[in-house]
Amino acid sequence: MYKEDDVEGDILGDKQKEKCGTAGVFGHKKAAFLTMRMLHALQHRGQEGTGIVSSPKKGEFCYHRGHGLVSENFQPATIRELIGPSAIGHVRYSTSGANNTMEEASKNIQPFFAQTAFGGLALAHNGNLTNTDKIRAEMIKTGHIFHSTSDTEVVLQLAARNHTKGHIPRIIRSLKKVRGSYAMIMLTKKEMIGVRDPFGIRPLVLGKLRKCWVLASETCALDIIGARLIREIEPGEMVVISENGIRSLKPFSKKQERECDFEYIYFAKPDSFVGGQSVQVVRTRLGEHLARLCPAKADVVIPVPDSGVPAALGFSRASGITFDFGLIRNHYVGRTFIDPNQATRALRVLLKLNVNRAIVAGKKIVVVDDSIVRATTIKQIVKMLRKAKVKEIHLRISCPPIRFSCNLGIDTPDRSKLFANRFQCIEDMVNDLGVDSLGFLSLEELYKGIGKKPCGSCSGLCSACFTGKYPT
Ligand code: AMP
Repeated sequence: MYKEDDVEGDILGDKQKEKCGTAGVFGHKKAAFLTMRMLHALQHRGQEGTGIVSSPKKGEFCYHRGHGLVSENFQPATIRELIGPSAIGHVRYSTSGANNTMEEASKNIQPFFAQTAFGGLALAHNGNLTNTDKIRAEMIKTGHIFHSTSDTEVVLQLAARNHTKGHIPRIIRSLKKVRGSYAMIMLTKKEMIGVRDPFGIRPLVLGKLRKCWVLASETCALDIIGARLIREIEPGEMVVISENGIRSLKPFSKKQERECDFEYIYFAKPDSFVGGQSVQVVRTRLGEHLARLCPAKADVVIPVPDSGVPAALGFSRASGITFDFGLIRNHYVGRTFIDPNQATRALRVLLKLNVNRAIVAGKKIVVVDDSIVRATTIKQIVKMLRKAKVKEIHLRISCPPIRFSCNLGIDTPDRSKLFANRFQCIEDMVNDLGVDSLGFLSLEELYKGIGKKPCGSCSGLCSACFTGKYPT
């Protein structure tokens, strides 16, 4: 069980993992402090490691990177050492790069930075590059040394070694060599750069705090420092922010936008706006569509907390069935509370969730969750509910069946481990889960709920985890 506001990354060990979050501040005397605050708001996007690199007016970059949460890494004394009017930061959940040992994982904590022929360059990346193994192997053959196993380092090395005139063209040329998804924030001695891949798969927003520019993965990071949203960085756009202001470049060939639909379904925080829409509102709408598409006769609608809450609310509104909290989540399960290697997955769910018997015993219930990946969570929940003498369980999921692994920023398990991929029909899934009925949102209703205007046959979204059609 791993919900969107989790900070107990270890507990899930082998589960599908969340992507990263990035933030940056340009032109503020408290740049590192503000970046730290923004990372705190983005903690749901990664809890494995975090880092900040700042750029003082004179001298080398300052940095601090470490395992764990923002609050564990950035004490006031650490922040005071990150001097300079600009800083970028990262929260990490690995989608690329090995984590077999702590030492290995340490090397993959971002931002990465290096001295290059054009000066220092720091880089924080949200996304996943798909052709960097090949590029890395070729570079190693020609004598290059890599310090990490991360796909992101390849971009840094490519930028450092190519001979194009001017550092912005160098960075662009390196990015043109890589495939996959990226929303990146970079820092040089004089600029902060924000760039999104041509499909716009991962989010990146631009904001302003008085005269100072900020960049972040999600708008909730702007709220926490009182910055206002200016706009999203467009797919394939690069913004270069310097003392002279902001420049927008469109260096990549134009592609049809393919924003990740899982940002709306699960990843982004409900208080964020993605694609100009409130995530909370979209999720509630998905629940409403779900109620119309897969109705159920029941006494109460209960969410799997926390990320199932908005969809359950929508389901309740559209069906007229009472909403209540039949599952209670323990928010205090610490990161070190259990050893991920020893604990069974079932125990993990038990530690985090308990049935609220007073609400569910003897009742027909609709359980709403945002997604089923391996079905570990829901199977444990069903067991707990049966033990609590629930009369009927009608499971409703506010996205379509996940049948394909994501290679664009979500560390999904192998296809063979995906629950929906193991069954041919809903009846078999119902039997396996031990529920009375099961309903998923259709792709069509998902698109309607998200409310994106399709362009020709393209929805404007990446739904590869449901369809297997990868944009890149
Ligand atoms: P599973 O237990 O493997 O079926 O995972 C599904 C549960 O984990 C649901 O309750 C989701 O809210 C949550 N979830 C969905 N996607 C992810 C993800 N990428 N990382 C962590 N948890 C997720």
